Amino acid sequence: MSALLVTQSPSESRPQACSLEVLNNLLRLLSQELGRPPKFEEFYPIHLESIVESVLHWKLVRSDDLGSSPYGAQIMGRCDFEQKAILVRSQASGGAQRYSLAHEIGHALMHKDAPRCVGGSLKRVRPTRSPLSSGPRPEDYAIEREAERFAAELLMPAKAVRRAFQEVAGSPRLWSRSQLAEKALPSGELTIENVSEAISNYQPTRGKPLSATFGVTGAAMATRIRELGLVF
Ligand SMILES: [Zn+2]
Repeated sequence: MSALLVTQSPSESRPQACSLEVLNNLLRLLSQELGRPPKFEEFYPIHLESIVESVLHWKLVRSDDLGSSPYGAQIMGRCDFEQKAILVRSQASGGAQRYSLAHEIGHALMHKDAPRCVGGSLKRVRPTRSPLSSGPRPEDYAIEREAERFAAELLMPAKAVRRAFQEVAGSPRLWSRSQLAEKALPSGELTIENVSEAISNYQPTRGKPLSATFGVTGAAMATRIRELGLVF
């Protein structure tokens, strides 16, 4: 992929600790990279490697093992602000690696001055997991939540998800007891949670499953679908 059309250094143009602004700026720079305006299918899954290397001008390092946190969890990714590198654990699934990478991009852009915000000492919080019960201080937890939020919105922007969802479901929202819901989930209870996950991985007649469109795990896609209230 060719170099990004970015003339100023990221530090000059970087808004601090305002995730929506950071995110919009990032998406704009990425669109420029892909040509204006890029087609939906060229833009998604979001090209995270280009963001790291061509927008941030950081290095991306994939590593077999990044160790584990003091809370016992495998470290999935971390930022090295001195070396300007994002490290991601390579032994995770493609979707999980992408989520970690997007999370670390959030840290790299928003949390430069956070004293402990290097991932390594913090237990990672996925939207599908329960909140931390012990460990990091509340301010660290807030930073982690912010990076998770950022990752979800970077990988699965609301507008794009709504559009792709409509293509798969044939309507803006899907009733969990509809025919399509039953088709996507042939066995199991038709709850909003189950149908959200089933429709995330459902192979439509044309095009890709939603989780593949956005390059995320079915669980992450389902969480986003529930957040946006697309299954009822
Ligand atoms: Zn983190």
